[in-house]
Amino acid sequence: MGVYHYKNSELHIEDVALSRIAAEVGTPVYCYSFKMLQDNYHALSKALRGAMPAQDFLIAYACKAGSNIALMKALGDEGAGADIVSGGELERAKAAGIPADKIVYSGVGKSRAEMAAALEYGIWQINVESVPELDLLSQTAAEMGKTVRIALRVNPDVHAGGHEKISTGRKQDKFGIDIEKAPEIYDYAAKLPGIEIAGAAMHIGSQIAENAPFKDAFARMATLVARLRASGHNISRIDIGGGFGITYKDEKPMDLESFAALVKEMIAPLGCQIILEPGRALVGNAGLLLSRVLYIKNCPSEGKIGAGERSFVIIDAAMNDLIRPTLYNAYHPLLPVREAAAGTPEHAYDIVGPVCETGDTFMTGEKLPEMKRDDLAAFMVSGAYGAVMSSYYNTRALVPEVLVKGNEYAVIRKRHDVADILAMEQFPNWLK
Ligand SMILES: *Cc1c(COP(=O)(O)O)cnc(C)c1O
Repeated sequence: MGVYHYKNSELHIEDVALSRIAAEVGTPVYCYSFKMLQDNYHALSKALRGAMPAQDFLIAYACKAGSNIALMKALGDEGAGADIVSGGELERAKAAGIPADKIVYSGVGKSRAEMAAALEYGIWQINVESVPELDLLSQTAAEMGKTVRIALRVNPDVHAGGHEKISTGRKQDKFGIDIEKAPEIYDYAAKLPGIEIAGAAMHIGSQIAENAPFKDAFARMATLVARLRASGHNISRIDIGGGFGITYKDEKPMDLESFAALVKEMIAPLGCQIILEPGRALVGNAGLLLSRVLYIKNCPSEGKIGAGERSFVIIDAAMNDLIRPTLYNAYHPLLPVREAAAGTPEHAYDIVGPVCETGDTFMTGEKLPEMKRDDLAAFMVSGAYGAVMSSYYNTRALVPEVLVKGNEYAVIRKRHDVADILAMEQFPNWLK
């Protein structure tokens, strides 16, 4: 039996009915499966273990995909480290009990305070993305009397990733250091106080299903590593990034076995410790956003929809809860929580939220079994870049997150309160 299934015509996540969570926690609500998280981690680690010894690689979960500390701890307990991109995520990694020697810090805009916090905690590696960042890191480490192990994130200039906004490895993208310029920057880094060169890093994009862009990038990385070693640099780690694609609608997911074989063939011979930074592939299909229908609009009478009419299903979730559809034109399959009886007519619906923006649209012209007020429905595959990208727009409080394990569940983020939002704000003296 799959993690998501209908039992007694009710959609379940593991052994918990979504209608029960809706009744007890309210909607909208993000629900995650503990088992799916574990299964995703094990599928990747098993594929890699089939190709190389376990001590040769570290799976550092790119926690920006889903950074609730319970999700991070669930993966950390299986052996995952963390790939962080901010001082805030460092605090999350600490809270989740991720050991310092499994934390890698990526990102183009680290502040001095963030660097200092990472140095203080003694994290494993900082991936540096520019010369000015290298200078500031050196200065910060030297002032603190510390030495920091770094990798330069190089940009291998390959085109990968399903969407313009998530491709990161092309020359024109803001990420990384031009691979052509990398050798001279390594020479420069080697002379800086407080800096110890440990390796090289790349991350070429997201939602990649094919080995081909990795193959190109790996070849360029291997050439670079050879060149750096010839110049006397110690390259003992190679961070190959994340970006492994998953299925939302009908996309082919990344084939982990053949990817592992490629890593074995092209990266393992470099004799480096290998770091992987998957985000989406670990949490994407482990989460869903559960919502309730508020109104059906633009039909002559509720439930009866004439041919050719456009029907809006207004639900209680909105773009502030799940922004991917409007930001990336992303598709999240919508499943009715109560299984449609045989013979239920289907209609083409526009599924929209209450936010005052036309962009607050989840789906357009989607054929679904007839929907009614108060029906529950779940946007599947919403575990990655879902809850983490939510905002207070329209002063809608952040929704809760629950983690399901077997027949139990726990609230892992409480529903926010509008009072909490207002408590952060204040009048200036002259308006009091
Ligand atoms: C976002 C990001 C990842 C994770 O990408 P996924 O597509 O979620 O696997 C990994 N590494 C870096 C540097 C990132 O910015």
